[in-house]
Amino acid sequence: MVDEVAGRLPQLLADLELLVRCESPSADLTAVARSAELIATLGAERLGVTPERFAVDGCSHLAFRFGTGPVRVLLLAHHDTVWPIGSLAVHPWSVTDGVIRGPGTVDMKAGLAMAVHALAAVVDRGGSLDGVCLLVTGDEEIGSPTSRPLIEEHARGVRASLVLEGAGPRGALKTGRKGTSWYRIGVTGRAAHAGGEPEKGINAAVELAHLILAVNRMGVPELGTSVTPTVASAGTTTNTVPAAAVLNVDVRARTGAEQERVDAAMLALAPALPGASLAVEGGINRPPMEQSGAADLYATAVRLAEREGLGPLTERSVGGGSDGNFTAALGVPTLDGLGAVGGGAHAADEHVLLDRIVPRTALLVALVEALA
Ligand SMILES: [Zn+2]
Repeated sequence: MVDEVAGRLPQLLADLELLVRCESPSADLTAVARSAELIATLGAERLGVTPERFAVDGCSHLAFRFGTGPVRVLLLAHHDTVWPIGSLAVHPWSVTDGVIRGPGTVDMKAGLAMAVHALAAVVDRGGSLDGVCLLVTGDEEIGSPTSRPLIEEHARGVRASLVLEGAGPRGALKTGRKGTSWYRIGVTGRAAHAGGEPEKGINAAVELAHLILAVNRMGVPELGTSVTPTVASAGTTTNTVPAAAVLNVDVRARTGAEQERVDAAMLALAPALPGASLAVEGGINRPPMEQSGAADLYATAVRLAEREGLGPLTERSVGGGSDGNFTAALGVPTLDGLGAVGGGAHAADEHVLLDRIVPRTALLVALVEALA
């Protein structure tokens, strides 16, 4: 089977190059729509089906659905990236010394191209795709605000959710993911002239300092719970007591209980300075993908990899969230990190290892054949 998949590699790479050259930052809805059209065209050519198109609040998502019965196997990919338009000029597409580079390669356009070609390979081998659905969403990188209902609708009741995010370190499949919560806390104080009458002010920057320390104490590293103050700002001019400040907080937790503990603590925050006030926005974004939900699916992958001579597999629980968190939360067995092997997601050294594309695509073929 590996040889059959290897025969598709030149076309897979050509498709990947087209996808990477079509920049698709989540925030640019026009660019995301253009990327969705490209995927619709490519997918229709390779798979012989026209995808269903969804535009939710202007964001473009696609579903390639096979057969008319209920979906049994969901392949989950996203086509948006964190890279702004113009990134390609700084980080051009290249394939050199077995390394593929370009914005959004490992996260996750390579995984998307692999999924399309894995499904095409199943058909080439005479298999059926009845009950398979490839869902390609356009806002994963910003927490999937418009695609989440679509993901849940397609995932409900399926046998397996196969997520095409890049693999973990040294190619590990991702069987657990932390849950994520995001908060934005507004601080209101009172402005005053810093020279003339500072005592009349309520310093929102000082309140912000208390707040950062309070938030920072909510983490419990032993339990894998991190509460990280991220973007913060205060004040207007250098001679004014700041009337306002803002703090953003990123929360990661391994269990739902921890995620809820932190949520309650966030909502209970009280100002330290008399007269200051706080407004907490945000909350739980993605629930944790707990490791136990993937155990059987991972065991299947190990068995298939062995049978097809694809090398030993490893698994790992990771901190970052993905749309796999949503399907796992529905009780659907979810295996993530099935996309490209490489590294540097969201970073200047983003890359995919060329020689791992064929074995990983073959693993997908075997999984789809076994599960559908
Ligand atoms: Zn991703």
